[in-house]
Amino acid sequence: MYVADDTIVALATPPGRGGLAVVRLSGPGALAILGALIEGHSPLEPRHATLVKVAGRDGTPRDEAVVTWFASPASYTGEDVVEISLHGSPVVAGGVVAAAASHGARVARPGEFTLRAFVNGKLDLAQAEAVRDLVSATTPLQASMAYDQLQGTLSERIGAIDRLVFQLAAKLEASIDFPEEGYHFVETGEVLETLRRVESAMGELLAESRRGRVLREGATVAVFGRPNVGKSTGFNRLAGSDRAIVTEIPGTTRDLLTESVSLQGVPVMLVDTAGARTSSDPVEREGVNRAARARDAADLALVVLDGSVLLGSEDERLLEQTASRSRLVVVNKSDLPARCELSAASLRSTPASREDVIRVSALTGVGFDGLVAAIVTQLTGSSSIAPAALSNGRHIQLLSQARERLQEASARLEVEIGQIPEEVILSELQATRQALEEITGQRTSDDLLEEIFSRFCVGK
Ligand code: GDP
Repeated sequence: MYVADDTIVALATPPGRGGLAVVRLSGPGALAILGALIEGHSPLEPRHATLVKVAGRDGTPRDEAVVTWFASPASYTGEDVVEISLHGSPVVAGGVVAAAASHGARVARPGEFTLRAFVNGKLDLAQAEAVRDLVSATTPLQASMAYDQLQGTLSERIGAIDRLVFQLAAKLEASIDFPEEGYHFVETGEVLETLRRVESAMGELLAESRRGRVLREGATVAVFGRPNVGKSTGFNRLAGSDRAIVTEIPGTTRDLLTESVSLQGVPVMLVDTAGARTSSDPVEREGVNRAARARDAADLALVVLDGSVLLGSEDERLLEQTASRSRLVVVNKSDLPARCELSAASLRSTPASREDVIRVSALTGVGFDGLVAAIVTQLTGSSSIAPAALSNGRHIQLLSQARERLQEASARLEVEIGQIPEEVILSELQATRQALEEITGQRTSDDLLEEIFSRFCVGK
């Protein structure tokens, strides 16, 4: 991604009408361009809000605005930044952007302000990614995790690991550079001890990552069951709305219904699926096919049974089909006399699938707190939902790879004490540092930056 030293301009607030619209300029020409757009103002002081008149030259509408100048390097991007708070009119804001462009500013690409902040050392890459996460957060927990990452919590933990690796690598390098001293700048025991500390620090971060990833990206939960077991009623209760159509005629949920909900702060896409019934109606058959695909793709399946009737062959088939995957068996209609017996054989439990059977009444709501808690536990691997420092798939992948390499290295070292040349360990340590530096962006490629920043919105 080419980083220029020109001046960029963009609308920083969402397009459309609002109380305010903020246009942001960044670059060496920011102040001069602002000067061309406004009239009659007292000299601007850095970090002071100043009321000005937008001149309205060249067909731009006039407006009153509050401008703030952040002098380089004390600004978001590290460059001269000017923020112009206008009345929230698309015509006015669009006019100011166009006027700035006619005075030499270039309209910014998505994420370009934050890219400049990264390039100028204002933020590291993990923090820059947190900016995007914060802007796109849909739950308070996502926002708070993004905020922590922006504050540098992840970067600090990565930095602490990197320092350990660096110190060890330095000692090994000294041993290599002065071979007559032997292996003695660092003892094998010390190498192993440090490797273990590094692995355990990585392990602590990775232990949070499953929860972190689900909290950041959300998960899909699909509701399955034969017609009339109460899927739609249960779906509505989970979704807290009346979106799915409830009816007493079997087979009415023909399509996939989806709803985004926050279950204890976990963003969940609920998918209600067509009844698992063989049908001759082509529309219903398509619904059933889609249900099968959603079942395969979902992170968790809720298999709903009607607890007031005997287990039928369709129920048995669904239980069998979902036995080896992440699922919860929801026995509904607990307000009615129980007739549905679930034997271990019918659940087909295997050690790989931890079986959870939850009894609920979708009609009365009894048991739903337990159901929500069970869903959250299944998805995140923990029952207490706290923010996690590691949540981004890119970071998780890099850290897992680094840990695997270190584990291999220390396993070899343990077996062949004193026989592995320092160079071998050193090369593993260098690979580890490379991965850590890719997380925080000390080491990046243009492709990676392009991929990360192009997903930002314009003006950020
Ligand atoms: P679906 O076909 O699986 O989506 O089932 P619906 O949600 O449409 O429900 C079928 C019928 O069962 C409706 O008459 C619901 O009112 C009823 N029903 C759903 N849940 C319960 C429950 O927990 N208790 C009782 N008594 N009836 C329920």
